[in-house]
Amino acid sequence: MIRRIRAQKVENKVMQATIVLKAGKERPVLRRHPWIYSNAVDLVEGKVYPGSTVHVVSSDRQFIAKALYSPSSQIRARVLTWDESEPIDHAFFKRRISRAIEHRRAWIKNTDAIRLIFGESDGLPGLIVDQYGDTLVCQFLFVGVEQWKDAIVAALAQQTDCATIVERSDAAVRAREGLEKHIGTLKGDLPTEAVQVNECGVLYTVDVLHGHKTGFYIDQRDSRELVGQLSKDKEVLNMFCYTGGFSLAALKGGAKHVTSVDSSGEALAMAQRQMKLNQFEESRATWIDEDAFSVLTALRKEERRFDLVILDPPKFAPSSHHLDKALRAYKEINRAGMQLLNPGGLLFTFSCSGAVDATLFERTIAMASAEAMSHSGDKTMDFRILRRLSSGLDHPLLTSFPEGDYLKGLLLQRV
Ligand code: SAH
Repeated sequence: MIRRIRAQKVENKVMQATIVLKAGKERPVLRRHPWIYSNAVDLVEGKVYPGSTVHVVSSDRQFIAKALYSPSSQIRARVLTWDESEPIDHAFFKRRISRAIEHRRAWIKNTDAIRLIFGESDGLPGLIVDQYGDTLVCQFLFVGVEQWKDAIVAALAQQTDCATIVERSDAAVRAREGLEKHIGTLKGDLPTEAVQVNECGVLYTVDVLHGHKTGFYIDQRDSRELVGQLSKDKEVLNMFCYTGGFSLAALKGGAKHVTSVDSSGEALAMAQRQMKLNQFEESRATWIDEDAFSVLTALRKEERRFDLVILDPPKFAPSSHHLDKALRAYKEINRAGMQLLNPGGLLFTFSCSGAVDATLFERTIAMASAEAMSHSGDKTMDFRILRRLSSGLDHPLLTSFPEGDYLKGLLLQRV
């Protein structure tokens, strides 16, 4: 009997696929960065398939981590655990999911739009799960979590009791993993209309099947709340408004009037439906379906002035190759936004480009403000940072994973 168990153990060891890292390439993984790039891999031993569990070892064969394998991606494997004794099984996913959900339940209040699982930052690489009321929306962005989909969905269904679980695996990054785009239902029926949520007393409708990301910019919750707090009696301009998240928060906060601009007519139509839902007077809002750059130029020519301006554009730098062009665009919209501010006026400005880190963003804003001041010819004009902004407590950031820190923002004031 004892002999048989031993024999089986030896066999398991032989069957366990192993990634051997190149000498000198172990350091990031030892420092708990969860991505193993293809150029760090010396050899792969044993049978592997997309999403299979592999042991990651150093060039001198010391155990480092357990990871899931992705043969077609530059990120060849993503680490799940650095603990050799922790098995990768259904119970593993259940534990990680329950830890992520408990954290949100304890800390996120006043809303039913919550990011329940934020990928690597929750120890579940490539998995995004957002909750909108009674509906969960999942994105499987890595072949490793795609393989464990059944276990993940079972744990989510059990731990949230949500009636509907939708899959929104239509992000472009799936192609790098050798995965097709897929939208469908994992539990319950596909929603036939937008899902309604209540965030800090504002009602929003979320198109979980076609909207951006999983339908809503959950990551801007804290900044929406701050906009609401600072909007009373203000003349507000919301550029790149999408479905009007910031606009509605400003109206709820008592803004005198909100002008919102986006080049998507569909997004604006949804924003207007939400005006009705919240019973905001139509005359308090203007919706402009046009290119933001032209609108900024036109408003400047008309010498329009606002008390509060929001600039939350799309990702101008999808990768570092686009950096120069992106920085020019960030500078241009910020200079224009600053020139539209009344003295004492506030500017909420954001970048969701991972390739633009917080320091670079701040430097770009400093250049924009220098240009705004010199173009205006007003020697008394100055700008100061009142607060640095980021996503909320449901978007935790691992110290070892700076890639998770994509959203950065500043609240500035024209002095
Ligand atoms: N601030 C929004 C999210 C912005 S997403 C929120 O909080 O919900 C970026 C938006 O910019 C999208 O709605 C897109 O339609 C819009 N957009 C992209 N390029 C644009 C352009 N050149 N002019 C106007 N809107 C643009």
